[in-house]
Amino acid sequence: MIVLVLNSGSSSLKFQVIDTDLEAIEKSADKTLAQGVIERIGSEALITLRAEGNPPSRSTAPLRDHRAALDKVLRWLVSPDSKVPGVASIGDISAVGHRVVHGGEKFTKSVAIDDAVVDQIEDCIELAPLHNPANLKGIYAAREILGQGVPQVAVFDTSFHSTMPDTSYLYAIPYQLYVRHKVRRYGFHGTSHRYVAYRYRILTEKSYDDTNIITVHLGNGCSACAIQKGSSINTSMGLTPLEGLVMGTRGGNIDPSILEFLHHKEGLSLDQLDTLLNKQSGLLGVSGLTNDMRDLLEEERLHQDRRARLAIDIFCQRVKFYLGAYMAQMNGADAVVFTGGIGENSPEVRERICKDLDVLGIAIDKKKNKATVGRKEGDISSEKAKVRVWVLPTNEELLIARDTVRCVKDAPRRW
Ligand code: AMP
Repeated sequence: MIVLVLNSGSSSLKFQVIDTDLEAIEKSADKTLAQGVIERIGSEALITLRAEGNPPSRSTAPLRDHRAALDKVLRWLVSPDSKVPGVASIGDISAVGHRVVHGGEKFTKSVAIDDAVVDQIEDCIELAPLHNPANLKGIYAAREILGQGVPQVAVFDTSFHSTMPDTSYLYAIPYQLYVRHKVRRYGFHGTSHRYVAYRYRILTEKSYDDTNIITVHLGNGCSACAIQKGSSINTSMGLTPLEGLVMGTRGGNIDPSILEFLHHKEGLSLDQLDTLLNKQSGLLGVSGLTNDMRDLLEEERLHQDRRARLAIDIFCQRVKFYLGAYMAQMNGADAVVFTGGIGENSPEVRERICKDLDVLGIAIDKKKNKATVGRKEGDISSEKAKVRVWVLPTNEELLIARDTVRCVKDAPRRW
């Protein structure tokens, strides 16, 4: 069954075309047939399209909205020039899976989209005013172009964390604010944490109940997740993705009174403070150079840049804090799993995080660590380590495609 996976941003549309079904899921025989991204929708859009095994084609075209962008993708997919096997006409697309950032308390698993589900995703906009409207643009466009005959499924970043106990998800602020406005921690990156937990379970042949791990997604956004008996029991992001680890441009945890202090000292408005926290902090804010970890490591190595080093050190120390905290909350874990652009590709950052963590039973093998990059899976722990450290590349699109199949076939979708 051919599934179109859409990740719709405010001015972008990423897609993958994945051939999968219940049997392929069982055998891990799913195939990615094509992928691409359209950026700068609304003006002269940048279009990158690639059939698997072929070089990408890059072009530009004026695309006024997400509907025009999706139309462009579909026309390319069915054209013989695209060389995408198995997609000769639009009718070959059996279902569409959408990434949706916020499902609030409503959505605890992936669901088939109908009018009521669209209404409920719209209700969650106030919790994710930047992300959900963008995700909805993809849903509206796909429903309009493909019609009611093609089932569509929403896969939420928040659902995997719906198993968190109230002691993890409640903030210690007046309880009425939770009752009245659902102010609580939701967590994000759920599809990524869930995917790497699934890979860990397959590779180690563990059952759900025997899966006790800490997953650490380190990309431009970063989060950690404590997974006990196969379920998320805590995660570092909160009401919004601002909380927790240091990220590319977000600072993660800070003392909330800094906001009032800066309002008085610098005359910053709420909007300006929001921009400061979301766009000007984190690795970028501390280094004053870039949000890109690869470039920061280069600056540190070539020029011994003090603030580049500081940014990386603060980043690594914050991850250590969460490893310690979750080890304590879980009374120990069997493994730590690194994923995301940094987690998958930077042996140096992994080594700096895991340094001097013998107290937690964590120790990595330098050789294995160096060798595990570029989407390789592997256990990088030293022989004697009590807690294993794994590198497992994430694949959120694959999980979205699989959930889409499971929803359409009404099959169970744990992970
Ligand atoms: P993501 O958001 O998952 O695509 O991750 C983006 C982050 O991964 C950026 O900070 C990149 O600099 C970082 N990254 C990608 N490759 C490497 C690498 N080889 N070494 C260090 N950081 C990397």
